Amino acid sequence: MRVFFLLLALCLSGCQSTPKLTKAEKIAQQQAEAVALADKASAELNDRGHRYRDITYQAYLQSLMQRLTTAEERQQYSLQLFLSSNPLVNAFAFPNGDIYIQLGLLTITDNEAELAFVLAHEIEHVLQEHGRITRTQRSKTMVSAHILDLLTFGTGLAYLPAISELSSHSKEMEFQADKAGLERWQRAGFSHPQITEVLARLNNGEVPRDDWFAYRTHPENSERVLALAPLLKPAELSPNPEGFDTEMQRIRLQATGMKLKRRLYFSALRDAAQLSSPWRELFEAEAWLGLAQYPRPAAREKAWLMDEDAEDWQAQIEAKKEQYLQQAQAHVTAVGAESPVYARSQRVRGDVERLLGNNDAARTAYQRFLTLSESPAEQAYVRTLIEKL
Ligand SMILES: [Zn+2]
Repeated sequence: MRVFFLLLALCLSGCQSTPKLTKAEKIAQQQAEAVALADKASAELNDRGHRYRDITYQAYLQSLMQRLTTAEERQQYSLQLFLSSNPLVNAFAFPNGDIYIQLGLLTITDNEAELAFVLAHEIEHVLQEHGRITRTQRSKTMVSAHILDLLTFGTGLAYLPAISELSSHSKEMEFQADKAGLERWQRAGFSHPQITEVLARLNNGEVPRDDWFAYRTHPENSERVLALAPLLKPAELSPNPEGFDTEMQRIRLQATGMKLKRRLYFSALRDAAQLSSPWRELFEAEAWLGLAQYPRPAAREKAWLMDEDAEDWQAQIEAKKEQYLQQAQAHVTAVGAESPVYARSQRVRGDVERLLGNNDAARTAYQRFLTLSESPAEQAYVRTLIEKL
């Protein structure tokens, strides 16, 4: 009881003596809160394995950030760059300076200048403390339920509300990040004659509006392009560093593989088209097979891409099962016997033929797989499939 009164007395005297915060102090306090929340969200991404560890690529991105920022900026805002294993197209920045580039974004980036522009945009969000402002102006920039749904697609992670809270900015902030980002990018020596078209490409059209979901909350293309055009200095595309394309192919391969694992077949199909043989044929076959085998997640993905009802899509996808299997068959038979992915292709081929009702062809492919595979677990599983034929 005495302790209670003592605490109460302390609190009362404490409360009375607290001076009213100045505006600057209030902002500093809000920034500290936003940073603390970001620390938690970022730590959760790390704990749950959402940081993609690729030392080579990480080092490359780090060097890109160094070109775009001063040592003072990096220090003041503790700027740090992470790759996220998420195969969807996105990048986001936390108020604590942690910037995440998702693997999926790299799959639609054709050159260093584009990547640097995205990075410059995210850096500006951090430096202009947009996370703090967004967080304290929730009523003005409420994230729609739909966007939240997109953010939580297929993950259900607790950190996601924090990401949306900290990184879904208002149109004005996006314009600011675009403009200041463009200036920063040009100062760093980057140029790209079609950078505004790149923005448009990222925003719609060739990329289903699915993926670039961060940019769905961004202002319309035409508005962004118009706002940036006067600031753009005419120039040639700045050259890629040596080895850029090879590295990009490698990253694209990883991201497409992850999409297939996460049953994002439509998206994987689009990515696979950019890969070189034999991965291209193998991944295309796996994606078509996935569409035939798993109409439910496929419908969910399609509905998500098209902003439509999953129920409607499921019936359409199920009706195309035969066609999908034939596509898979055509692609998988294009993988040559000398190919390093031949064993894996025979596993896929077995599944395709089995689902098409061609039991003999399925058995042949599965048996070929058994002689080539080095995975006892997969071999055991394939044996059970052969028994059921
Ligand atoms: Zn933005």
